[in-house]
Amino acid sequence: ITGYISIRTDITEKKKQFQKLIETNVVAKSAVVAKSQFLAAMSHEIRTPMNGVIGMLELMLDDKLDTQQKKRVQIALSSSKSLLNLINDILDLSKIEAGKLEIESIDFDLKKMLEEFTQFMRFQAEEKNLTLSLNCSEMNESMVVGDSSRLRQILTNIAGNAIKFTQQGEINIHGELISHSDKRWQFKLSISDTGIGIPADKMASLFDVFSQVDISNTRKYGGTGLGLAISQRLAKLMHGEIIVRSEEGKGSCFTCVIELDKSTKALEITPIDQM
Ligand code: ADP
Repeated sequence: ITGYISIRTDITEKKKQFQKLIETNVVAKSAVVAKSQFLAAMSHEIRTPMNGVIGMLELMLDDKLDTQQKKRVQIALSSSKSLLNLINDILDLSKIEAGKLEIESIDFDLKKMLEEFTQFMRFQAEEKNLTLSLNCSEMNESMVVGDSSRLRQILTNIAGNAIKFTQQGEINIHGELISHSDKRWQFKLSISDTGIGIPADKMASLFDVFSQVDISNTRKYGGTGLGLAISQRLAKLMHGEIIVRSEEGKGSCFTCVIELDKSTKALEITPIDQM
């Protein structure tokens, strides 16, 4: 070696900046956790008396009331229920943001769950003279392990919207097994409607928190713009996602692709010809 070139750079400033970045990140993270803890405590404090109010209003409806009084109690009841839903949504969202929402792993029959869910939603659809049908004939295997109540929450949000934003026509729920490996199954659960549809320029922000296509619709349709934001985040926690196709004035189709573990209970079933 006859010589060497050495390049020295003073990284003190860079180090300081990096440290500041880490500290800001830590502060931001602990702020999210603190916010989540605060919201969780508040939601609990609000939920308990709200349930009391709802219970009392429901009892009042059984009393002998004249038409005017009954109408007033019904308005108070529906406002209280909306407030409770909003509190539950805010709590869910803050838990997801803080990484504190646990996805359960419980054996359940997906096909049976879809049948019960359809039955439940049909009451709401029929109130608007809409037909609601289920087709899961291509779902031969359906004993899975997963969080059925969180999956139901996603489907309830999507189907609730389908009913809300459809004035006439039909809503179809379609369930299908699309792929499977040794241990996991991938399902496609779609809910399509013949409603007002979504403008193309609004599709990108559909899953943002508090996103509503038309603010003026809020008064007409109600809602908070949290349902889809929560549903998409829940689907992602379940190794899935929600995809939307829609045409303004024609209708929408929300598809939830989801991966679920095969249940060992499914393997315990012995085919009849082997018994
Ligand atoms: P919310 O229904 O409480 O307003 P969501 O997050 O569930 O909140 O939905 C966000 C917005 O997306 C709705 O306000 C509506 O504008 C639009 N949207 C969702 N589903 C449909 C649908 N099936 N048809 C038309 N618009 C829809």
